[in-house]
Parts: sequence; C-alpha cells; structure tokens
Amino acid sequence: MSDCIFCKIASGEIPSKTLYEDEKFRVILDLGPATRGHALILPKTHAADLFELPDETAAEVLVLAKKMGITLKEKLKCDGLNLVQNNGAVAGQTVNHFHLHMIPRYQGDGQKIGWTPKKTDPEELEAIQKEITG
Ligand code: AMP
Ligand code: ZN
Repeated sequence: MSDCIFCKIASGEIPSKTLYEDEKFRVILDLGPATRGHALILPKTHAADLFELPDETAAEVLVLAKKMGITLKEKLKCDGLNLVQNNGAVAGQTVNHFHLHMIPRYQGDGQKIGWTPKKTDPEELEAIQKEITG
C-alpha cells in the first residue's frame, strides 16, 4: 500500500524508534504514548485490520508480543502490560494497517484502558449466545 504510513514505517522508508525487527515484523515506539515504552507491533505486509491478517501472521503476532512483553518488563520494570488492538473506526482504529499496541503499565500511571460494564441478564446472554453460535 503505497500511501500507508505504517507500511512505510515497517519497511524502513520512514524512520522510527525501532525496538525489534525481523523479516515479517517491526516493533516501534508509539509517537503518542499512553505510558512510557508504549510500543506497536507492525507486520511488514499490509493488512488493514485483524480480519485481513493471514492466520500464520496472526499466530506469530502473539508470540512476538510475549517476547517483547518480557523485554519491556525486564528493561522498563513495568508492573503490568496491556495488549490493545483496534479494528474499525468505531473501535478506535485510526491507522488502517494492523497493529498491536503494547502498553506497559506502572503503579499510579493514571491511565485507564477499559470499559464501563453494563447490566445484562441470563435471558439476554442466552439470546446473544444463540445469535452467535446458531
Ligand atoms: P489506533 O488508534 O489503534 O489506530 O492506533 C494508532 C496509533 O499509532 C496511535 O497510538 C498513534 O499514536 C500511533 N501513531 C500514529 N502515527 C505514528 C507514527 N508515525 N509513528 C508512531 N506511532 C504513530
Ligand atoms: Zn500498510
């Protein structure tokens, strides 16, 4: 994708603060970090989102996230780690090239990643279950 900024970053055409690189992935520091060390895993081959990502690449992403997560914990002494992956504008995706956020968490970092739990009931849950599995 010639006009995709993450394709250009992943290929090295646009410089980035790279933490790791191999044939298929580049891991960079996010320019608008939620916390210290917020990183993004970018596949080098363009896929707009999770749904376009080849299965093999999808499987490799989580293995790489584990490896990078261990490194972030060791080097930055973070207390925890959020993996965040947005698909679609309504879900917060702003760059249409698959990326996995790795957000190191520190006690008292003031960040909030989550949602407001809503009420439901067993009937509603059952209806949803049937809708998805039926
Ligand atoms: P999302 O909202 O999930 O699409 O996340 C896009 C992320 O990319 C945001 O956290 C941005 O701060 C980050 N970002 C956008 N442009 C760049 C860039 N040129 N280099 C590094 N990170 C970027
Ligand atoms: Zn791309």
